[in-house]
Amino acid sequence: MPQIPPSNAAPRIAELMRELLGFPHVASLVAGEAMAGDGAAIQLHDPATGEKTESYADAGPAVIAAAHEAAARAQAEWWGKTASERGRILWNVARLVREKAPLLAELEALSAGRLIRDIAGEAVRIAEMFEYYAGWADKLHGEVIPVPTSHLNYTRPEPYGTVVQITPWNAPLFTCGWQVAPAICAGNAVVIKPSELSPHSTLVVARLVELAGAPKGLVNVIAGAGPTAGQGAIEHPGTRLVVFVGSALAGARIAGAAARNLVPCILELGGKSANIIFDDADIHRAIPGAQAAIFGGAGQSCVAGSRILVHRAIHERFVDLYGRATATIPVGAPMDRAALMGPINNLRQYEKIQGMVRTALEQGGRLVTGGAKPAHLADSDGYFYAPTVIDGIRPGMEIATEEVFGPVVGVTAFDSEEEAVALANATPYGLAGAVWTQDVGRAHRVAARVRAGTFWINSYKTINVMSPFGGFGKSGYGRSSGREALAAYSVTKSVWVETSQTPTMTFSYSPE
Ligand code: NAD
Repeated sequence: MPQIPPSNAAPRIAELMRELLGFPHVASLVAGEAMAGDGAAIQLHDPATGEKTESYADAGPAVIAAAHEAAARAQAEWWGKTASERGRILWNVARLVREKAPLLAELEALSAGRLIRDIAGEAVRIAEMFEYYAGWADKLHGEVIPVPTSHLNYTRPEPYGTVVQITPWNAPLFTCGWQVAPAICAGNAVVIKPSELSPHSTLVVARLVELAGAPKGLVNVIAGAGPTAGQGAIEHPGTRLVVFVGSALAGARIAGAAARNLVPCILELGGKSANIIFDDADIHRAIPGAQAAIFGGAGQSCVAGSRILVHRAIHERFVDLYGRATATIPVGAPMDRAALMGPINNLRQYEKIQGMVRTALEQGGRLVTGGAKPAHLADSDGYFYAPTVIDGIRPGMEIATEEVFGPVVGVTAFDSEEEAVALANATPYGLAGAVWTQDVGRAHRVAARVRAGTFWINSYKTINVMSPFGGFGKSGYGRSSGREALAAYSVTKSVWVETSQTPTMTFSYSPE
């Protein structure tokens, strides 16, 4: 496998930004205009080489105020359009995203360090998200309730107004489409703060929404850090709903800030998902399935299957086959189409992974494979970490309950279905999970008993905009995607109309 050559990421990112966004650098996008921040400098790096790429200033209060003002103006205009007009504009967004998909994918690969082979299809899925919600735009209506009085009582789903969305660095393009499409379908305007480490593709999606015919400022992007720009956006009096995708730690702070501003909050947080493999599983499917579950996206996935629970009868054979298969996973640069795993997004996360692996081994875990930079990339300054398997994980170890958010999987043996379910549920999280078995009754029993927002049977990681998504426990609350996202992004108004000519009145009035 070749070494990673010095990168030309910075000039290519600038070229792509100029083409897709109209300006070549990171800035906030407010009412369609670039707006520079006035806060501390934020330095970006190329994850594949560690080289500095770009630096920009954190968004301060002036940017936040302007974004909220633009959102409020645009939302009034947007909600004033007919539902069919809003739907047509969402279709236009989808068409533009499809047209720009190859360039968007390249931008995401270079700016967020994600594999081009993974994102090429993902950019098209963003278009599908807008298509799905375009279809919903003129089908959102209330109901007539048969109240026991002489009134006509009906409901109207209405938008909140301005929604503040805060998103992480692991899949910025995907998360942006996933949250922006239902928010604007329901009639809201958006102020979105992507991760300060990868704001590029979010800026482009906001531009495409504008080019599709939406009012300028329907989607505004704040380029800045969480504790400053993110908190500022939430605390603004114009915020009506907060939607956060990220870690449980930041989620607690964000929920607190939303509560102080008396606005509701939807939280999509991390996970420690269990992949349960029974002794009757088709092992030739379970092995690649359990690899995709954790090593896709280099483990930087909220639903990553970071715990393998395997029946003791096949434990030794499974670990041997799985470890050997994992040692051959090709790791390479984002634009390397032969690679199945790319770099970690940033140095801080890379060091966190190193630290958690060290602790797992100190606490008695047995390293099966990985645990360091891949040998062929030993001289690279890129944030590459080898796919890592650690056996002998016991409840109580840090790695059994804490999210690594990297390509590291822990293996635990179990003896019974009862024990497998108990182990799967022995974390504070509840985002996802899977079971591998040929026994259909057992598959459904386990699916019903594992506390997880998404569960797969003989599969892993498939999600789709049509299906609801969210967590149990410390993986968050509220649901994104599918029809449920539209309910989450709407508030219901109840309207009462008196229909009787002689309504019952408690108070009386006699005209003079
Ligand atoms: P993070 O929580 O550090 O940051 C996420 C976002 O929150 C960033 O935009 C950051 O700037 C902002 N932020 C951080 N602190 C803030 C604060 N005090 N106030 C306001 N904003 C703040 O997460 P990350 O490291 O970027 O991403 C990794 C995490 O995201 C993992 O835990 C992963 O599981 C989770 N995630 C969850 C989902 C999901 O749908 N459940 C999807 C993707 C990622």
